[in-house]
Amino acid sequence: MESELVCNHKKCRKRVEAYAWITSCSHIFCDEDGVREFKNNATCPACSTDLSDKLDIIRIEVNPSEKYKSMVLAGKRPEIIMEICSRAMSFWSYQIHQERVYQEYVGAKAKERAAQLEQYYEQVISRTSAELNCIF
Ligand SMILES: [Zn+2]
Ligand SMILES: [Zn+2]
Repeated sequence: MESELVCNHKKCRKRVEAYAWITSCSHIFCDEDGVREFKNNATCPACSTDLSDKLDIIRIEVNPSEKYKSMVLAGKRPEIIMEICSRAMSFWSYQIHQERVYQEYVGAKAKERAAQLEQYYEQVISRTSAELNCIF
């Protein structure tokens, strides 16, 4: 199953697959960008947050194994399990929200451009027909 989350690197924006990098500032990056960006650098490429703490950047498996799912939260108290789940859900909704805002922005820009083009071609058409009227 593919994740719905997209890499937050401006030039990339591809869907994350297999492995992804998660930052404490709630950003996510594909494996290629994460490996490259975080190799010698602990700054978020999306928001420039300093990520120098050990848990500020983690690399995750997007579709973890059954074994991992059985083990990762086992032994923790219910309230801790629920808190972890709720924080992870917040991360998810933040990402989905950001993506929707971005898509709306792209949509609005495209509409604006289409309106400009339409206006431009209407002018061309009226100028051309005016010229044709002069000739004939
Ligand atoms: Zn990427
Ligand atoms: Zn960030």
